[in-house]
Amino acid sequence: MIKDNIEKIRLRISQVCAKHKIDPGKITVLCVTKGRSVGEILEAVNVGINHLGENRVQEAVDKYKFISQVCWQMVGHLQSNKVKDALGVFDLIHSVDSVNLAQEINKQALKINKIQDILLEVKTSPEISKFGFKEEILADACAQIEKLKQVNIKGLMTIAPAVDSALDARPYFSRLRQLRDQFNPGWLLSMGMSDDFEVAIEEGADIIRLGRAIFGR
Ligand SMILES: *Cc1c(COP(=O)(O)O)cnc(C)c1O
Repeated sequence: MIKDNIEKIRLRISQVCAKHKIDPGKITVLCVTKGRSVGEILEAVNVGINHLGENRVQEAVDKYKFISQVCWQMVGHLQSNKVKDALGVFDLIHSVDSVNLAQEINKQALKINKIQDILLEVKTSPEISKFGFKEEILADACAQIEKLKQVNIKGLMTIAPAVDSALDARPYFSRLRQLRDQFNPGWLLSMGMSDDFEVAIEEGADIIRLGRAIFGR
């Protein structure tokens, strides 16, 4: 069933890409594995999923023991006291939402001589999550984070609010793209989840984060 779900997702991605002349090869499906068993995750890995996302550091550390041949990425809120463990597991941290957190990542990364790739999480809607940079402070935060030698900003991430129709998520995605174009056109966009990933792709998503579409509700 997980295999069928992934096939359906791939088909939907190729359809939306064909319609808008987007290269489907640029889209990364990040399979979000929170609450899923190692067995379930391996089913996805066995049909070619090689990017896994987690919300909690400890859950990723535990699963990494069994599944280390793929790229693990952090999508949940990261607490400073978990940064050290996070650096041992994650290739990319999507959820950097404060300068303090970036500084802590920098400090811990220096100890292990790692350059940590990160995305800056942006609050594109006031009512959504508690986390993420407000747009007004993004430029200043970005300037400070860019000075950190062990941290490499690869792009922006946002979580759109839950909406009745996927189309209602479009303004948040297009806003993130505008910000990206303004700050650095070379950056990646992490946006779109199970209910709205096609709209996110239309708006320029590079990484879509899918949980329920892969594993079921
Ligand atoms: C859980 C989660 C996802 C996946 O959500 P689905 O709706 O199950 O696709 C994506 N991004 C983040 C940050 C999440 O916490």
